[in-house]
Amino acid sequence: MAVSEITLSAHAKVNLTLDILQKRPDGYHEVRMIMQELALSDTVTLRKTEVPGITLTCNAPDVPTDARNLCVKAALNLFERFSLPGGLEISLTKKIPAAAGLAGGSADAAAVLQGMRTCYDLPLTDAGLYAEGKKIGADVPFCILGGTAVSEGIGEILTPVPAVLDFTVLLVKPRAAVSTKAVYEAYDEKPSETHPDTEGMLEALRTGDAPGIALRLENVLEPVTLAMHPEIGEIRKKLLSLGASGARMSGSGPTVFGLFREREAAEHAAEEMKKIFPDAFTAVTEAVIKDTV
Ligand code: ATP
Repeated sequence: MAVSEITLSAHAKVNLTLDILQKRPDGYHEVRMIMQELALSDTVTLRKTEVPGITLTCNAPDVPTDARNLCVKAALNLFERFSLPGGLEISLTKKIPAAAGLAGGSADAAAVLQGMRTCYDLPLTDAGLYAEGKKIGADVPFCILGGTAVSEGIGEILTPVPAVLDFTVLLVKPRAAVSTKAVYEAYDEKPSETHPDTEGMLEALRTGDAPGIALRLENVLEPVTLAMHPEIGEIRKKLLSLGASGARMSGSGPTVFGLFREREAAEHAAEEMKKIFPDAFTAVTEAVIKDTV
């Protein structure tokens, strides 16, 4: 049934592994990554209005509120495709830092698509919703799916995977502004000669082999972003010395995440990290595990 207002959570993700297989002739990179949804989330509220037009209000001053915002892009796309009447007010409360490698914008767009399907009772199957997501960004389909999944192609071919991931996640994002485009360009100059053990990671996730998971966290973009922002290496080392079982950069960075066996240890490490890196964003969160796989 169509409703006039809806509120949804839009969850962050980290890459447990990130591999680049090749650069396609059209310039896109073919990837193979294991994505993990986190509890850390933004809140998206949609309100249908009789007055035409899409408006967005957001608590974060660094996030654009015009058509550059992925929420607005996602809404515009559905308004056009289904010739929807009236307008939409979107209220976005950011908790996920922007441009962090945590897919915050993609998660927000995924929430708008899902919310609009309900609000307008749109004739969209799940496959149709994923296809709309792909138009907005490569990570949007995963953000619709959530849980743990292998992401291939340019990020749009998704395979949910069963996972036992008994860790608390500590996120640390230095202030560094990372350009995803610059990271991929630098990677193309010098592609990695080593690659993540994706199959080994999938097996470790399936069996809940915590040391095996920590050992196999890998991201071929990390050395590239680290060369531009050495503090990423310092954060990673510090997370390990504070008791993380493993630590890696997520996406194209600059967020580094540490996996801790005990929540208390993660919280203690977060306090220490705040002292050492006072400008950094830190958050203690958990993986979201879907038992429907
Ligand atoms: P990814 O992991 O997919 O690379 P990210 O965490 O690096 O994502 P986003 O948080 O999605 O990056 O933001 C990237 C840029 O997109 C920001 O600098 C911002 O200007 C713009 N942007 C557009 N929509 C949003 C949104 N809803 N939230 C945050 N940033 C947004």
